[in-house]
Amino acid sequence: MRKKIVAIVLAAGEGKRMGSGIPKQYMIIKSRPMVYYSLKTFQESEVDEIILVTGIDEIEYCQKYIVDKYKFSKVKKIVPGGCERYESVYMGLQAIEDADYVLIHDGARPMINQKIVFDSIRGAMKYGACVVGVPAKDTIKVVDEEEYAKETPPRKILWIVQTPQSFQFELVKNAYKKLIESGDTTATDDAMAVEQYSGHKVKLIMGSYDNIKVTTPEDVRISRAFFRTRKLFRVLHEIHDRIIWFQMKLYLLKKK
Ligand code: C5P
Repeated sequence: MRKKIVAIVLAAGEGKRMGSGIPKQYMIIKSRPMVYYSLKTFQESEVDEIILVTGIDEIEYCQKYIVDKYKFSKVKKIVPGGCERYESVYMGLQAIEDADYVLIHDGARPMINQKIVFDSIRGAMKYGACVVGVPAKDTIKVVDEEEYAKETPPRKILWIVQTPQSFQFELVKNAYKKLIESGDTTATDDAMAVEQYSGHKVKLIMGSYDNIKVTTPEDVRISRAFFRTRKLFRVLHEIHDRIIWFQMKLYLLKKK
């Protein structure tokens, strides 16, 4: 039987590090709010349903000016998030009625593409838990409270983790239930919740150095530049996306 795949797109939170007054996930990139790009990518993918998690005051705006306007028919629910990212994820998971696999994605990562979605779905099916990431290019230091270098972990074992983070639905749902019940507030990503509260191993798969999280004003400039150059290569991108989509169809047919 065809497996049901649900994407949770996170667009709650205030994005204080942007300092703009507008939550970063709604800043305009090429005349569209940032979260549009993630929703569009999932809408055009093999994902069956999308749950959009947003601030309670933005639900109406999202429904009218994003979901209805751009005909994102896969968005089944728009639900309010919590004060922290992990609370928003929990709200998103609670809103899912049934699913086999779930992809959890930051709406503040607009450069997601079909290849990343395809690899994430395949990874979730193969490993049960997988996250996209990229090997660290810079040396990373661990610092003490006064910001003196304390340790330098070898670079070859360090990856920068991105989203989507993709899991068997029951696995991530149970892990988050335990995390919430424990009162633990330290989880900054979904892999952490699964590592600590399920014991299931999480596989890292190659994401893309483009797939940045827009956090500060310079990230906005980078993403605007990215979408401008993308315009020049739109035809090539679309052909590439079609090929990936076709591969995904074949893969899911074989999995039946
Ligand atoms: O704040 P941070 O950069 O970690 O946000 C990553 C993603 O999580 C963003 O897409 C943001 O909208 C979302 N988020 C959320 N609820 C929060 C905090 C962040 O949905 N309370």
